[in-house]
Amino acid sequence: TLRSRVAVVTGGNKGIGLEVCRQLAADGITVVLTARDETRGVEAAEKLRGMGLSCVIFHHLEVTDSSSVSRLADFLTTRFGKLEILVNNAAVSGMEHAQRVDTNEEQFVGMDKQQRLEWLNKQGRETYDAAKNGVQTNYYGTKLVIQTLLPLLLQSSGEGRIVNVSSDAGLLRWLVNNEDLRKELDDVDNLTEERLDEVLDSFLKDFEAGALEAHGWPTAPFVAYKMAKVAMNAYTRILARRHPELRVNCVHPGYVKTDMTINSGFLTPEEGGRNVVTVALLPDGGPTGAYFDEGREASF
Ligand code: NDP
Repeated sequence: TLRSRVAVVTGGNKGIGLEVCRQLAADGITVVLTARDETRGVEAAEKLRGMGLSCVIFHHLEVTDSSSVSRLADFLTTRFGKLEILVNNAAVSGMEHAQRVDTNEEQFVGMDKQQRLEWLNKQGRETYDAAKNGVQTNYYGTKLVIQTLLPLLLQSSGEGRIVNVSSDAGLLRWLVNNEDLRKELDDVDNLTEERLDEVLDSFLKDFEAGALEAHGWPTAPFVAYKMAKVAMNAYTRILARRHPELRVNCVHPGYVKTDMTINSGFLTPEEGGRNVVTVALLPDGGPTGAYFDEGREASF
C-alpha cells in the first residue's frame, strides 16, 4: 500500500499551479500534475522530476471535458485507490487577447495594484465568447472536477481536502450594486447549486444583451472572471456544509507574476504557490468553508 498522501493539481504545467506541484512534492506528497496540453504537462512534470522530485507524475486533464475528467478518476482509482488533496487551480482570464505582450520588470515599478490592473485590462477585450468560456472553465470546469473526484476524496478517512484557487475578484463586495444577490449568495444555509446556475445564466444573458450595469452585476474590468470566482466561493461553502468530513476552502494567492497577469503582479509564483500550499496543508480539524487571503483566513 502507498502511505504517501496523493494530491491532484489542475493547470499544473505553469504559473501558480506548477509551484503548488513543486512545493507539495517537496513535502513528500505524491503529486499528480495535470494539464490540458500533453506536451506542456509532460515537460513540466519532467522538470520537477529532474529536480529530484520523483513523486511527481503527469496525467492529462481538460477540466471542461467530462470524459477527460473521468479518465483521471479512473487512473487515480486504479493507481492509488484514494486521493487526499485536490487543488483546483486551472483557470482562464475571461478576456480575449489579440497577441502576446512582452513585459519587463521596470515598467511596473511605482505602479500600485489599481494601476497595474488597469494596464492589464487594456491588454485584452471582454468579449461575450471569452466571458462564457471563463465561466465555463473557472466555475463549471472546477465543479465538474470536484464532483467526479469527490468519491475518492471521501474515501480518504477524514483526510480529504479541496483547495479552490479563487481570487479577491470573487469577493461579495463586487456585488455592491445588487444588495439582494449579495445577501442571497452569503446565505449559504439556503443557497443551492441550482440557484448558482440560474445566477450565472442570467449574468451571461445580461452580458450578451449589454445589460450588466442596469442589473447591478460587478463592474468592469474582469466581470466574467469575478462572477465565476464569486460562484466558486459560494459553491465552496455549500460543499463544506454538505461534507463536514472534508476540508473545503478557497484561497486568494495574491497578485502574482504569471501569464494570466502578463507578469504584472507583485508576488513571484513561488510566493503565490506558497499561499495555496499553506491552505492545502492546514492541520486536520482546521477550518472548512473558509476563504484565505494570502495564507490568512478572511471574510467572503
Ligand atoms: P496561468 O495562466 O499562468 O495558468 C493557468 C493554468 O490553468 C495553466 O496551466 C492553463 O493551461 C490551465 N488551464 C486553463 N484552462 C484549462 C482547462 N480548461 N483545463 C485544464 N487546465 C486549464 O495563471 P495563474 O497561475 O496566474 O493562475 C492560477 C490560478 O490562480 C487561477 O485559478 C487564477 O484565477 C488564480 N489567481 C491568480 C492570480 C494572479 O495574480 N496570477 C490572482 C488571483 C487568482 P495552459 O498552459 O494549457 O493554458
